[in-house]
Amino acid sequence: MSDDEQISVYDEVEIEDMTFDETLQIYHYPCPCGDKFEISLADLRDKEDIAVCPSCSLMIRVIFDVNDLPKDPEPEPPVEQQEETPAQVAIVA
Ligand SMILES: [Zn+2]
Repeated sequence: MSDDEQISVYDEVEIEDMTFDETLQIYHYPCPCGDKFEISLADLRDKEDIAVCPSCSLMIRVIFDVNDLPKDPEPEPPVEQQEETPAQVAIVA
């Protein structure tokens, strides 16, 4: 019995070689089964480095540096109440 948490991964992939989906905030990489390995940016920030293919359960280790991850997206600015500016009607005298 070993305390080593050796996870057998299919491959190791540099994050630069992965594709970032800005909409879903996940990185993905083509899996040999035709699906894609996926790992979310949040997981990476959490120092999670194993991307899993949902179809065949293969795993890859993502080589990355937490400091190189994209910065937190700007927090959504609070939806500003549309100031009820009265329609600007230029009154031409
Ligand atoms: Zn797969």
